[in-house]
Amino acid sequence: MLARRGAKGSAHTQYVLDRRLVARTPMKCHLLALACLSLSLGVAAAEVQHSGIDASAHDVAIRPQDNFYQYVNGGWLRAAQIPADGERITPSSELDAIIRQRLKGIIEGPQPEAAELRPDWQKMTRLYRSYLDESRLESLRSTPLADLRQQIAQADTPEKLCLAMGELGRLWVMSPFSNSVLNDADDPSIYAVTISQNGLGLPDRDYYLEKGAPFEQARAAYVKHLATLLRLDGDTRAKEHAPAVMALETQLAKAQWSGADSSDPTKTNNRIRIDTLAQTMPSLDWSAYLKGAGIAGRIDNIVVAQPGYYEAVGKLLHSVPADTWQAYLRTQMLTAYATYLSRVFVEEDFAFNSRVLRGIKVNTPRWQRGMDLIEASMGEGLGRQYVAQYFSPASKARLQHMVDMLVLAAREEIDEADWMEPQTRARAKEKLSTLHVKIGYPDRWRDYSQLDIRAGDLVGNVRRARSFEYNRNIGKLGHAVDKDEWYITPQTVDAYQYPPQNEIVFPAGLMQPPFFDVDAEDAANYGAIGASIGHEISHGFDNIGSQYAADGRLLGKPGWFTTRDQARFDERAHAMAVQYDKVEVLPGHFINGQQTLSENVADNTGLAMAYRAYQLSLGGKPAPVIDGLTGDQRLYMAWTQKWRAKVRDNETIRLLRSNPHSPRQVRGQEALKNQDGFYRAFDIKPGDGMYLAPAQRVKLW
Ligand SMILES: [Zn+2]
Repeated sequence: MLARRGAKGSAHTQYVLDRRLVARTPMKCHLLALACLSLSLGVAAAEVQHSGIDASAHDVAIRPQDNFYQYVNGGWLRAAQIPADGERITPSSELDAIIRQRLKGIIEGPQPEAAELRPDWQKMTRLYRSYLDESRLESLRSTPLADLRQQIAQADTPEKLCLAMGELGRLWVMSPFSNSVLNDADDPSIYAVTISQNGLGLPDRDYYLEKGAPFEQARAAYVKHLATLLRLDGDTRAKEHAPAVMALETQLAKAQWSGADSSDPTKTNNRIRIDTLAQTMPSLDWSAYLKGAGIAGRIDNIVVAQPGYYEAVGKLLHSVPADTWQAYLRTQMLTAYATYLSRVFVEEDFAFNSRVLRGIKVNTPRWQRGMDLIEASMGEGLGRQYVAQYFSPASKARLQHMVDMLVLAAREEIDEADWMEPQTRARAKEKLSTLHVKIGYPDRWRDYSQLDIRAGDLVGNVRRARSFEYNRNIGKLGHAVDKDEWYITPQTVDAYQYPPQNEIVFPAGLMQPPFFDVDAEDAANYGAIGASIGHEISHGFDNIGSQYAADGRLLGKPGWFTTRDQARFDERAHAMAVQYDKVEVLPGHFINGQQTLSENVADNTGLAMAYRAYQLSLGGKPAPVIDGLTGDQRLYMAWTQKWRAKVRDNETIRLLRSNPHSPRQVRGQEALKNQDGFYRAFDIKPGDGMYLAPAQRVKLW
């Protein structure tokens, strides 16, 4: 890994090659990890450490004081190419590609030596081979869906349609509703089922309702796409059905809640007794839907996330002809399974969902999509094999130490938050002291022994895997919450915070450069994964987190804030929303500061916590200077380095509409402007591009 410095070739190529080298020699990686662990404990020689900063990625023609993102990443941005089969190139996408190659090696390689790994491995390889057998899929066309098509054709009344929607949902076919089984907001030790709005084929309701590019083009292309799907499936009235389905979805879009309202935990926590649904929301045949979904008889009440919406759907079930609803469900069925059918379906699905909506030029290789199927069907089975080969206990120990430092830093930040009342500070610290952290992979692996995977039956395998997962979730109802469950797989390059369990989770996939480099000195690690840890911690204490108690109960607003704290928080948050609102990402396309508020707050506070945690970790000793860079400089450079990104414009626009995060290039730049430490580290002065006057800098923690 040290060979990376000074190597020829673009930073990107070198980076990928370097990771592949590690992929082939996991033992070496482990040994280095052990060396680094002892080093971080102060017992080994310092020469093993490198800065963790990719100097070949810089653009030295730019002053860091004027455009820090360009300075740190300009060289990389010039060299990096978005792959033809992708919509972006980022450190995450590069790591994803490396991990997928490793997983491919596992699935295509020899049977694992460890006996406990073999049953899952055999099932996964069978699933993979059924996906690769294209000639068989060619001869089947869409016939493996014949029984579902028949079921939809028979649903000719509102009651039968509701029943069919519930049943199809078990196979992950979208309908106007979806259901999820998660911790009960009022008693997080048990499970509740929430029914949410769903069922739009375009990415978001804006795509149905807004004028101009790219929405109008997307709508026109969508109608053509629906017609093609139906025609390929043998619908002789496809041309008539497609615009009718579009009109129906537009009605659904109009009735749906905005993204902001739908992500408000209090507004969406509407518990209703099942036996009163017929009176309170009479338009919809709830009993048929709940029966179809397998929920009826298991519990007494459900949570309806967006109450007014269900009444609107109920009315549409009566006013729109059953023939249109059937065509709608048929398109949803085809969309849910198109990628597992013959070539014409695969190509049509790609042409619309990837090329039109996301600007991707060519489809990923078939083996890669096969790996994606295993990930979706037996993700933890795959993760179990992955961590056995590619994850070292030393990484876990070092990250745990960083988490401890971050928690200490968060404690100090809470102590210094001048806008908080003393009793609020006490509650915040109580919540922090019960924070639960998961690192690497689950303590107990998911059991796939009852999942039936057969040779040569791809659609059957996908259907069984989906219904296995659906039943696993529904089966939780009535049982105590399993706090050990993970909601992403260990090989995922991401992290999450889960309010109902007051926990933050960092999978093995994220614990690799440039997020976490077990060979690097601490500063870069604090700036990269350390700030991610701070980000996730921050979510427990922001506008959403303050609505959750330390035990995970949803308190509603202002939660454990006082009304005065809430007002002061809102005032600062508003200033941050205004700061981000001004950022123009593409000509005419700005950030929505309100939609991205919680994530922007987490970026800003997470980075501040990471800076403080790094100082704490030094224990009063000066930070080493490496490659002429101070510790503080490396920390901020690592932050910006991890956000380097090239993304296709259509994808950027789609994300600006639907994603709660700001685009990466903005995350790598904007949060720095609010950090006093950054001004000191790079001597930022009035007149510099990165400068904000002290009064304009927003600080929450
Ligand atoms: Zn976040």
